[in-house]
Amino acid sequence: MEEKCPKCGGVMILGEIRFDSDTVMPSQMNAYMTGIPSSPLPNVYQNSTSRPYWEEKTGRKTGFILKSDEKKILKIKASRCSLCGYVEMYAVEKPEES
Ligand SMILES: [Zn+2]
Repeated sequence: MEEKCPKCGGVMILGEIRFDSDTVMPSQMNAYMTGIPSSPLPNVYQNSTSRPYWEEKTGRKTGFILKSDEKKILKIKASRCSLCGYVEMYAVEKPEES
């Protein structure tokens, strides 16, 4: 089943909103972590891409002594129209992370 753009009826392509961060793990750090300083491994770029998420209050309180608002985290899915570029976003229940 294909999603149709609400604006122009074009085909919607499912995607994800991401932010690129240019944090690079220094190669010295890599050597330290692998324990093989002479390793011919190429510089490993830390995968520090972060994704935005949706947060909402559930209206309930969590915590025993320190009460705080219980929050619900939802992932944001998006689809983009291949014709006009319209982006539609959905907040979806985050699957259990293992
Ligand atoms: Zn469109």
